[in-house]
Amino acid sequence: MSTPVRVRFAPSPTGYLHVGGARTALFNWLYARNRGGKFILRIEDTDEARNTETAMQAILDGLRWLGLDWDEGPEVGGEFGPYFQSKRQSIYDAYFAKLEAAGRTYTEENGAVRFKFSREPIMVADLVCGDVHFASTEEPDMTIRRPDGSYIFHFVNVVDDIEMKISHVIRGEDHLSNTWKHIDLMHALGSHPPRYAHIPLILNPGGSKMSKRDEGAAIDSYQKSGFLPDAVFNYLCLLGWTPRSEKEKIDRQELVTLFDAADIHSSNARFDMAKCTWFNAQYLRELAPEALLGAASPFLQSAGIDTGSNTHAAVAVHSVKEKISLLSEIPAWAHYFFREDYPFEEEVITKLKAKTENKALLQAVLDHLPSISDWSESGFTIGIESVAAENKVKPGSILPLLRFALSGQNRGPNVATIAHLIGQESTANRIQRVLTKVL
Ligand code: GLU
Repeated sequence: MSTPVRVRFAPSPTGYLHVGGARTALFNWLYARNRGGKFILRIEDTDEARNTETAMQAILDGLRWLGLDWDEGPEVGGEFGPYFQSKRQSIYDAYFAKLEAAGRTYTEENGAVRFKFSREPIMVADLVCGDVHFASTEEPDMTIRRPDGSYIFHFVNVVDDIEMKISHVIRGEDHLSNTWKHIDLMHALGSHPPRYAHIPLILNPGGSKMSKRDEGAAIDSYQKSGFLPDAVFNYLCLLGWTPRSEKEKIDRQELVTLFDAADIHSSNARFDMAKCTWFNAQYLRELAPEALLGAASPFLQSAGIDTGSNTHAAVAVHSVKEKISLLSEIPAWAHYFFREDYPFEEEVITKLKAKTENKALLQAVLDHLPSISDWSESGFTIGIESVAAENKVKPGSILPLLRFALSGQNRGPNVATIAHLIGQESTANRIQRVLTKVL
């Protein structure tokens, strides 16, 4: 019987969730969900004395936003806890004693303790990088315990992987060069090493490793700029992995079904914000009106737009969905649906004033409005066509003027859609306002 799949994401709390860490978590999560295994979250907080609680929350928030739920870990618990390295000192002491008893440690004059390497050649059978051979090392023996009794990263990382019965270690490629040390320690502790999968780095568009300063480096920035978690999830999956599928836009459940660690690339991935934004636009367009309004609400609220009493709010927001890529763009595209005092763009004022007949045409529309009995989009369109015919112009000469008048903008959904949504009375008021205040 094969061992149950138990994978872990083991971040050191740095105050934010980095896109590279999120992608590592994502691959672990996909692997666990694909194999019916467990995804464990372990906080490696031994070195980070300062402000660990807030730093950890940033990681939890980021994982939750992406929908990466963990089966064991902080706030969830589990039989192998505590899931904070800072709370596991007694476990490390016990393993340390085991290593001592096996004669694999020695103490330096300053009190630091070193682990005696086996000095055997070690092979890492990596699911992504293939068999990586490390020759018998000439490196000095590794310090595992400091004079103050605290343990270094390699030791606690290995102990926890043993204790938590981790079956597969899926982590950043930057850890590959030290993996032989981990395997040497595992053997010395009488344990069988897990399978390893070292995943490639994410590079910024300039070709260097993504750093905190790079656009898109912090997961909370996606939420703030109006990305949907599903879109970011989909995009991050493709950074270093090509699913066996004809399409790129793949929903969560299908990604779980398709995921295989063996398909992860061994070459580095290149981060592309434009591509990520493209994914977001695709996901936004699929949202039903109510869902889009729900997702857009924080952005509308922070722009001071109250959609509360407007029953057409969801439809109004939905009407601009083809125009936007980010939720944060919605207020600029839809604000006039929710207020009568919307501003007029400079360009719009110039265009309204460009021709003297514009005023007469708008007046003609205003005069005709009461005779439109069917205020549907088609009823409105028929009404405008008859005004155009009476004035011997094409509807195309009137519709832009109406767009300017009804929205203050030079872009947006169909004019008939706007008129229908704001209603007959507001349409009349808006035209009247332009006639008296602008022209
Ligand atoms: N705390 C380590 C890191 O953040 C984890 C390494 C590992 O996954 O083994 O890089």
